[in-house]
Amino acid sequence: MDFQKLADVLEELEKTASGNAMREILAEFFKKVPAEDIAVVSYLTLGRIASDYDDVVLGLADKSVLKSIAVAGGIEMSKVDKLMQEKGDAGLVAEKALENKPRTLVPLGKLTLQELFDKLHKIASISGTGAQEQKSNILVSMLQKVSPKGAKYVIRILLGTLRIGAGDMTVLDALAIAYTGDKKNKEILEAAYNICPDVGIIAETLARKGLKGIEKIDIHVGRPIKMMLCQRVEEIEEIPEKIPGEFAVEAKYDGERMQAHKDHNGKITLFSRRLENITAQFPDLVKEIERQVAGKEFVIEGEIIAVDEKGHHLPFQTLMQRRRKYDIEKYMKDIPVLVKVFDVLYWNEKSQIHGPYKIRTQLLTKIVTKSKHVMLADKIVTDDISEMDEFFHDMLKEKYEGVIVKSLTGEYQAGTRGWNWIKWKKDYVKDMSDTLDLVIVGAYHGKGKRSGVYGALLCAAYNEKEDVFETVCKLGTGLTDEVLAELPKKLAKYRLNHTPARLKVKKEMEPEVWFEPKIVVEVMGAELTKSPFHTCGSGLALRFPRFLQLRENKKAEQATTSTEIEQMAKK
Ligand code: AMP
Repeated sequence: MDFQKLADVLEELEKTASGNAMREILAEFFKKVPAEDIAVVSYLTLGRIASDYDDVVLGLADKSVLKSIAVAGGIEMSKVDKLMQEKGDAGLVAEKALENKPRTLVPLGKLTLQELFDKLHKIASISGTGAQEQKSNILVSMLQKVSPKGAKYVIRILLGTLRIGAGDMTVLDALAIAYTGDKKNKEILEAAYNICPDVGIIAETLARKGLKGIEKIDIHVGRPIKMMLCQRVEEIEEIPEKIPGEFAVEAKYDGERMQAHKDHNGKITLFSRRLENITAQFPDLVKEIERQVAGKEFVIEGEIIAVDEKGHHLPFQTLMQRRRKYDIEKYMKDIPVLVKVFDVLYWNEKSQIHGPYKIRTQLLTKIVTKSKHVMLADKIVTDDISEMDEFFHDMLKEKYEGVIVKSLTGEYQAGTRGWNWIKWKKDYVKDMSDTLDLVIVGAYHGKGKRSGVYGALLCAAYNEKEDVFETVCKLGTGLTDEVLAELPKKLAKYRLNHTPARLKVKKEMEPEVWFEPKIVVEVMGAELTKSPFHTCGSGLALRFPRFLQLRENKKAEQATTSTEIEQMAKK
């Protein structure tokens, strides 16, 4: 298929703010896309060239991109630089440069989707000396085959600045409509996506094998599985109502969730909760897991925590220093870590997720041999809530966050906030409200002492039913000077000159700067009240919000949901 067809649709989507209209436009387009191109189209619509977890980096410097535009457009570099200053978006610069291209530069045929995709992967694969030059040459060869509009999108995809506002769920909805004629089938696609969070694979399987093929999608070792999440209750007495009879109570560690995969070649890969490949950050853990966990192939989950020499738990912020590309060896020594293993999802050629927790954890006790750095999560099994409460307070003394109560009969609900796991944290007990994880969708410029930085942020919750973001507060308190200085840099790449698609916002709250919903912050508030200015749930606002910390381990879609906020408000 000709890339121009996708470029036309991207342009239409760019002008569309409503999520529903977006789905319909995409669905109509998907109907016309041949099966061999549907995976590529799905990735490119999301502005990527592979699934999120594949970690493909195109690695083309802005300067090389501008140079390629100059060559393809037959204009001088100084003109391109000037255009860049005017427009601030290399995509628009490419469009302009190609519009005014001298007639002598004839287009060299058409760029197909497949060729674009292959060339982008080729660009990603080149490294070492002369890489920028080679990458730039490939880019020129693509720009010579596209229209000015096509060039705008090639550049935006390449630089990761597409931002039309479609998310993975938008694509799944559109696929359900296009291939099954019924939006409700998205649920089947989503269930498969939770096991295989790769829209390309889902799209191609659906196009080639229909819903039957989708239902057969299973765990593939080396490909992350979306992680199960916990529900919450407001009163401790609600726990036995949700999980009657005996239950397990595990410590809730404040660390980094980790899913470890060992494939049949013995290769171990670690994924974070955002499904990023974090193997390179933890060579020490990889070795330990290799040694302490038995099995030819497995997928296990646990929480990584930083510890001091005595094995005492260190705060999450200390662990975050291990998030780095360089000096790994030094930090391995300075900040040792251990993993508290709490689940097994796959073991020796068999998925375990549909089996009950009790059987899964029995298997864990057989396959995990305790060491200083790998051990099972601390837990008790009881049917007595006062025993649970006692264990909870013991865990607080250890400086853990609280506990997670788990149903002994519950299966592992991939990607779901299910009632098989219920968290009980210390914030619930002290007489203050729980914290919320909210997404930054806009900002207001600071004044006086805060001039030059953002003075306040517009924050939103996630409405998972409608796949939209809903505003809940304007956040200005609690931001330290350090965070204030850091935010403009962090947010720059997500800046938009229009309201983000999939955002519900009232006119009164419109900020001076918009952002694509990407960055999550933990916020504490005094109470939830009805508000005519916010769109969260039935129109709820968080009063006196206070910034606690950036939550870089969470994706926008993992923010606190409007339903959760609605439940909290009821209490
Ligand atoms: P929250 O982020 O508050 O929704 O809590 C869920 C997170 O708690 C998970 O993603 C894990 O990173 C973390 N966690 C800590 N200990 C456990 C445990 N024993 N079982 C499951 N998750 C745990």
